[in-house]
Amino acid sequence: MDHKTSTWESQYLVPSYTLSNQFVGYVWAAQQIPEYSKVNNFIVDVLLMSPKNDSFFRSSLSMNETILAEWKRGIEVTCAQILRMHYDNFYPMYGKDACTSWNRLCPYFDICSASHGFRQTVMNAQYSKLVWDTAAR
Ligand code: SF4
Repeated sequence: MDHKTSTWESQYLVPSYTLSNQFVGYVWAAQQIPEYSKVNNFIVDVLLMSPKNDSFFRSSLSMNETILAEWKRGIEVTCAQILRMHYDNFYPMYGKDACTSWNRLCPYFDICSASHGFRQTVMNAQYSKLVWDTAAR
């Protein structure tokens, strides 16, 4: 189950969730736990926000084996692409949409928008490297 807020409602909102990497991934992950191996439904609650709307509705999504297998293959291929980029030491930029997701500018925008040869200078001047100590969580 997940709870989502949205400022828009359309006949496409809930159907689009069936292709959500997040939701399909939740079901796949649940199935890896032996006692939940048969789980294939996912409930999503949507709270529509004012000023356009303020209603609530619940939907159930069904993920069959074909959907889960295609999702898993997509994750594997994406991982292989990331490893290839790491090997090539080159990470292509696929457009601007991610840079302004969630109505905010990505914190790394100054690096990416600098010319290629100037990026290290921007990194050194504006950013610091922090190591996430997972053991200290
Ligand atoms: S600014 Fe952020 S989202 Fe945009 S290409 Fe750079 S890292 Fe990706």
